Amino acid sequence: MNLTPLPPSPDKRGGDLTPLPSQGEPVLSLSKEGWREGGSPDAVVIGGGLIGSSIAFHLAQAGVRTLLIEQGDLASGASGANFGNVQVADTEFGLSLELTLQSYARFASLEAELDCALGYRRTGSLLLIENERQRALMKQRAAMLQAAGVRASLLTGDEARKLEPHLAPDSLIGALYNCDEGNLDPFKLVHAYARRGRERGLEVWTHTPVSGIEVREGHAVGVATPRGRVPAAWVILAAGAWSRELGRTAGLALPVQWVHGEALITEPLPPTARNALTSAVFFEATETAQEQAVGFCLRQRPAGNVMIGEAARVTRRLSRETTATALPAIAAAARRRLPVLRRAAVIRAWGIPVAFVPDSRPLLGAVDGVAGLLVATGLKSTIILTPLVGELVAGMVTGAAQDPRLAEFSPSRAMEEEEILWHSPSSVQ
Ligand SMILES: Cc1cc2nc3c(=O)[nH]c(=O)nc-3n(C[C@H](O)[C@H](O)[C@H](O)COP(=O)(O)OP(=O)(O)OC[C@H]3O[C@@H](n4cnc5c(N)ncnc54)[C@H](O)[C@@H]3O)c2cc1C
Repeated sequence: MNLTPLPPSPDKRGGDLTPLPSQGEPVLSLSKEGWREGGSPDAVVIGGGLIGSSIAFHLAQAGVRTLLIEQGDLASGASGANFGNVQVADTEFGLSLELTLQSYARFASLEAELDCALGYRRTGSLLLIENERQRALMKQRAAMLQAAGVRASLLTGDEARKLEPHLAPDSLIGALYNCDEGNLDPFKLVHAYARRGRERGLEVWTHTPVSGIEVREGHAVGVATPRGRVPAAWVILAAGAWSRELGRTAGLALPVQWVHGEALITEPLPPTARNALTSAVFFEATETAQEQAVGFCLRQRPAGNVMIGEAARVTRRLSRETTATALPAIAAAARRRLPVLRRAAVIRAWGIPVAFVPDSRPLLGAVDGVAGLLVATGLKSTIILTPLVGELVAGMVTGAAQDPRLAEFSPSRAMEEEEILWHSPSSVQ
């Protein structure tokens, strides 16, 4: 495993995006799939995770004939590997925070909107402070959040332990508390979007890997799949960490990077933690490349199982592996902070690539040089932004007025010379 910083990619950077030459006439007839007799979709969404399913639902709701294509099962990427936290406190500031709060407001009525139980509950979150550097960072963060109207407060270690009595006294000196954060079942959210989308005419193909985005004369004209080629006026790339290689098929060098995140889950336990717990170490920038960074985050599921993460490492491999080094390190980090976990049995572990963008802002919107291609990936705190991003991207297709500030998320924006930077493991959250 070699995780020293990688040399700059030879790819072209955002802003210098050249589509590949035409791949020929699309040939697929969709009629035998029973979608639209003899027709083709207006829009193809690639990726059946949180982001792709929300976009597909919102497109179908807007009356756009939409096909969602997923290489595996729905939610089989990072969206099925996460803790379900609807998290505010770790957002980037500026426009990201504004959008996060707008999107958060929709969660109170999301189950009613989708007519589906999502397991949504408001719990709370604690960012655990373990040293003075983290305290300074969390103090700054608390002030910014409070200025935006978030009910965040800085607690002492004793105050934090009153909320979470299982925390070891010597494991923290304080915490950033946000009483409003919530949790849901991410699988249920993805499937709810797909189910409600289907009721509005959405077609969903699972176990269908898109092998390429077809571009002709500067326009995206469809996608290639093992079931045939699908012509479409719009192609929406929401394939998470896989977006980079799919972008290449359209001649793009999208600045998508990823960390390989690993986590585990215990057997059902008695009440152990009500809040989402996350170590503030995730906010400490690390200048040096690390083979493996192990932070700490924990969430107890309603059934009692405790999900614990996470080890993250930068890699260029897309894999689902778990490693002999990461899992014991995660377990040790958890035991140190919550000694009650010492005797808990681990029943499952998983690993998955999670996309991030080097400047910590998502890729969201149109790509220069390829009309009809939209990208939506690399979000931080994806769950909370899922409803709003679906609506925004659908609006880009239907021609709804857009906030001009979204230009700062342009997939073609200029960025520093790309290099793999281990700037913060928080990119996995
Ligand atoms: C341990 C862990 C805990 C986390 N906890 C949280 C949390 O509590 N809250 C939170 O907000 N975030 C959390 N995250 C991050 C979050 O899971 C991701 O940011 C989010 O799931 C990304 O969603 P997505 O839809 O963009 O990508 P994905 O869910 O990865 O979806 C992309 C989809 O595209 C599909 N795809 C790829 N290539 C192709 C192809 N060629 N053809 C068709 N389909 C393709 C993939 O199979 C995948 O299903 C966590 C991550 C980890 C690892």
